[in-house]
Amino acid sequence: MRNCVIFLAMTSLMSIVACTPSPESAALQNSTAAQSEIPLQPASDETFAAVDADRLMAAENEPGQWMSTGRTYSEQHYSPLDSINRSNVSDLGLVWYADFNIPRGQESTPLMIDGVIYVTTAWSNVRAFDAQTGASLWEFDAGVPGEWGVRACCDVVNRGAAAWQGKIYVGAIDGHLIAIDAATGEQVWKTDTLVSRDISYSITGAPRIVKGKVIIGNAGAEYGVRGYVSAYDAETGELAWRFYTVPGNPALGFESDIMEQAAATWNGEWWTLGGGGTVWDSMAYDPDLDLLYIGTGNGSPWNQGIRSPGGGDNLFLSSIVALDPDDGSYVWHYQTTPGETWDYTATQPIMVADLKLDGVERKVVMQAPKNGFFYVLDAATGEFISGEPYAAVNWATGIDPQTGRPIENPEARYDQTGRAYAVQPSSSGAHNWHPMAYHPGTGLVYLSASDNALVYAFDRNFDPNPLASNLGIDLAAGAAELGPNATADLPNGNALLAWNPVTQAPGWRFDNSSRAGVLATGGDLVFKGNDSGLSAYDAWSGEHLWDSIDVHTGVVAAPITYSLNGEQFVAVVAGSRSGNYYAPDYSRLLVFKPGGNEQLPQAISFTAPELNPPPREGSAEQIAQGQSLYEQNCFICHAEPGTGGYRSRIGLFPDLHYSAALDSSALFNAVVLDGVRSANGMVSFAEVLDEDAAEAIRVFLIDGANTQLGK
Ligand code: CA
Repeated sequence: MRNCVIFLAMTSLMSIVACTPSPESAALQNSTAAQSEIPLQPASDETFAAVDADRLMAAENEPGQWMSTGRTYSEQHYSPLDSINRSNVSDLGLVWYADFNIPRGQESTPLMIDGVIYVTTAWSNVRAFDAQTGASLWEFDAGVPGEWGVRACCDVVNRGAAAWQGKIYVGAIDGHLIAIDAATGEQVWKTDTLVSRDISYSITGAPRIVKGKVIIGNAGAEYGVRGYVSAYDAETGELAWRFYTVPGNPALGFESDIMEQAAATWNGEWWTLGGGGTVWDSMAYDPDLDLLYIGTGNGSPWNQGIRSPGGGDNLFLSSIVALDPDDGSYVWHYQTTPGETWDYTATQPIMVADLKLDGVERKVVMQAPKNGFFYVLDAATGEFISGEPYAAVNWATGIDPQTGRPIENPEARYDQTGRAYAVQPSSSGAHNWHPMAYHPGTGLVYLSASDNALVYAFDRNFDPNPLASNLGIDLAAGAAELGPNATADLPNGNALLAWNPVTQAPGWRFDNSSRAGVLATGGDLVFKGNDSGLSAYDAWSGEHLWDSIDVHTGVVAAPITYSLNGEQFVAVVAGSRSGNYYAPDYSRLLVFKPGGNEQLPQAISFTAPELNPPPREGSAEQIAQGQSLYEQNCFICHAEPGTGGYRSRIGLFPDLHYSAALDSSALFNAVVLDGVRSANGMVSFAEVLDEDAAEAIRVFLIDGANTQLGK
């Protein structure tokens, strides 16, 4: 028997059914039989996002719900629902959709709680929808100033919300943590999580809620920040605790003994550029062990030779750290990449699972971080159990089973050799933020895995710049040293990979499959986005079983599944901005169910601008100077001009070879120095570039655009 209420929504005439299964009925929810909805109680705002500790701890018993970003605290992105399965997935069709009208990257995993979908969008806005009909319930605008966009390395994305006792929580790109009334969409409280607003912190990850505290980290290690994670009282927004992931300036005193110990693994004046180690995405929690797991990011700057001359492990960069969720105190850590120097974050999705290893059940933590090794660790102690490469790796030849430390390839340490090297994986990682999924039946972990490479070379002219990237690598010098084709013969491509964490070997792989988040279900299906919609695969064999209709944009976010009134739905956010910056925006929430036959509006035809640069001008020296300035200031967003860029941000920002502002210094300076496009995130760079510098960048782009035209 389920406890159900029906009440009128505040903003429209539609009604919502909200049901809280009792424990004995929860097990039945997995059946495909239709369930009746019975009005039992009067309307109450409390019914929205009525998530508490009991429900989150027992989320496994409510298979129809998706109450936290990974569905359960173990963050397995697995749902036991099985009424959509291998035999009928081909009947899956669109049942409703909702446009976002925000032409930026959409990376959010939705929540579905008691009949309501809560989903974040780019710019950290939040939407609520009736999960059955798609009717919009409310919209929340986080009010982020457009100028803050320049402080986000990789677009103004947001990966999801958290829910707790009638409230929805979002971490905004400008560093605020915001609590919203789940019934009305009104702001309840807002707090500034940033220790400084003068440097480029941002938030893109989903908050997690453990025992009444909202846990949130931040991003910014490309810009020169010090990473930390904070916990706030979910009711009041008051700061409960904060754990820094790297030590600060010793002269100011350490926050804790563990920071003093960490400082012994650093050299030089690392704190001047923050050190990095931002907790920009993944976390998991284990209620039995009462441990919170956080993943930490890369060093700031990337180049360890600049960041910590003479080396050192640089704790706690690129680590999984287990914390006591009550006070944020340190329990254990495992560092995936000691002395990180390649942007090898360990912020990639973390999950907790029970595995049978050598005949013994063990609770483990699993992660496939950027560095290309799949890790299985003991969840209680952090002990290294196993780690094998799941993609092309050449920075290390393996992991020492005794110490759990990587066996490095010395040539990959460009920061120590002073020589450029084509390193696999690249900074975009063998796996990135895209959620992975674990199916306890198949015993496989499903993830978007990539083979890629980047030439790393020591930036001899490194000059810290608060507005742009502080990487400490010089791409042009790398190309000059190794030639432009240094990575051409190395493996390159993306696959949907099914990985066996027990044997540390591939189960199956589906090649040529764009990077996206993954969902696994009890129907023995794996769902993943692609360049034009959503696809389903057989969880056992990898057989490609279903493609959605063309949704006119890419899907990179992770799908979810839920059940209402006995029907199973699959929901996913679309909007990758991949391909062409000038293409129309189709960012939207898409919901599918068997027999769904809703259609999307026709794609809007558009004409990409023609490459039409003005004639070359400027001296060879000026063009070379412009290239260097471009790489320091523009590259992180606009990528390699003329190619659309080598990173995941292809198409996200305009390719400047096509910019009409190249036509005159006045037009170019209006954008670059006067900041006329600040509202889009393209702020004035007058603090770091003068008119001569802007002109050098302009003539460099004109030169390149003419070369691209074959002139
Ligand atoms: Ca990074």
